[in-house]
Amino acid sequence: MSSPAVVPIRTLDKNGSEITSVGFERFGFDCEVPLDVLRSLYLRPHYVTTATSGSETEAVDAKEDNAHARFTQGLAAYQSKSIYHPDTQSISYTTLSRFPPVKLLPPSQRKRVLVTGGAGFVGSHLVDRLMILGHEVTVLDNFFTGSKTTVSHWVGHPNFEMVRHDVVEPFMIECDQIYHLACPASPPHYQFNAVKTIKTSFMGTLNMLGLAKRTKARFLITSTSEVYGDPEVHPQHEDYWGHVNPIGPRACYDEGKRVAETLTYGFHRQDGVDVRVARIFNTYGPRMNPYDGRVVSNFIVQALRGEDMTVYGDGKQTRSFQYIHDLIDGLIALMNSDETRPVNIGNGDEFTIGQFAELVREIVEKVQKEDGDVIPRRVNIVYKPMPTDDPQKRRPDTTRAKQTLDWQPRWTVRMGLEEMVRYYKAKMAEGSL
Ligand code: NAD
Ligand code: UDP
Repeated sequence: MSSPAVVPIRTLDKNGSEITSVGFERFGFDCEVPLDVLRSLYLRPHYVTTATSGSETEAVDAKEDNAHARFTQGLAAYQSKSIYHPDTQSISYTTLSRFPPVKLLPPSQRKRVLVTGGAGFVGSHLVDRLMILGHEVTVLDNFFTGSKTTVSHWVGHPNFEMVRHDVVEPFMIECDQIYHLACPASPPHYQFNAVKTIKTSFMGTLNMLGLAKRTKARFLITSTSEVYGDPEVHPQHEDYWGHVNPIGPRACYDEGKRVAETLTYGFHRQDGVDVRVARIFNTYGPRMNPYDGRVVSNFIVQALRGEDMTVYGDGKQTRSFQYIHDLIDGLIALMNSDETRPVNIGNGDEFTIGQFAELVREIVEKVQKEDGDVIPRRVNIVYKPMPTDDPQKRRPDTTRAKQTLDWQPRWTVRMGLEEMVRYYKAKMAEGSL
């Protein structure tokens, strides 16, 4: 059966130009990667079809392949496809036997990169980039909030290794660069076990800095805008010391990251460890755990399911939202730069949470209409109590990133949200959400 014509998804940047690749060349390091290749890895990487009979199966296949091809432009060969058998309530998984092409780097340029927390949301996108760029990547993760499925498309690749390990225990490996991400990031997850969170931040960072000292690897830590707490300075620049409640429910994360930064600069000054500190502002994108309680995933999932969208407090608190590809560009640029001071990586597009709920609702409806879905009713926005110590405003001052990394966010919040809505929609269609 022939498939209908494929209409590709076009993504425009803040200047209205089409985005076809991410990354760039900086500091003699070329990290450009085609967007289609990345999308083929995260938009429905494990798509499930339901086994039916004869022509019906072909029709379902053609429809799914067509929907899929809109994102991946014929790169479906790099995806595993699993078949669900309703009669026996079983699922047969296929593993990937083909990997997307990765750069063949000369040994002098090929780095051995350790990514702690590499099975999480941010980590998995970083791993995709580093793999495609031709590096040898080891993921270290205890799978507390991350999942093996986020990077399973690389399992078996000669440049890739995945290790189940908790960073609070020492770990020995030979490496040239360490991206230290391991730490739960959503408020419900990091508050689930506050003692473990601060232990991860402190002992995990201590262990990874010790490793960097021994191996002389360059060390980058993903710190956070939470080090500024509920800020009295707006927007937040890197020289602002912050306003953090040291004993509140968010302290395990905020103070954990602050002490992790203190340790990082201690090793830098005392032992000459080559360090980079990224202070990341709210970031969203595909592979974000739909149940991790953060605002972007909550709102999209609620709107797609036709449930009430829950705004906490009066919705006047603000956040500024960055799309995942901009963050990964920033992290790679920072790692390869000479900048050892903390650098804010975030998007300055600031919304009140109330406005943001309306934007998400509008975008979900737009995508549903484009896909010809029946929308039974417009979802409601409802108000719930404000969590303790919730910061009232947040927007990054990214002057330093622009000056020292020549980095600026390219993705509009709208474009990023559309892609994320399609990602969750596809997961719902599979039954995995
Ligand atoms: P995530 O929860 O999706 O990923 C964190 C990963 O770390 C998971 O794979 C988890 O299993 C792993 N992990 C947690 N504790 C560990 C431990 N003790 N040992 C080994 N692995 C462990 O979160 P994310 O959004 O991908 O965040 C990644 C990093 O970026 C975190 O350090 C976070 O603080 C930072 N950050 C993220 C954001 C954001 O908006 N996403 C904002 C600021 C900072
Ligand atoms: N929030 C909300 N509804 C939700 C989840 C979060 O209104 O379902 C609010 C939350 O109170 C905060 C903002 O959205 O003001 C961002 O929350 P998130 O947990 O994503 O990240 P934070 O920046 O607070 O760490």
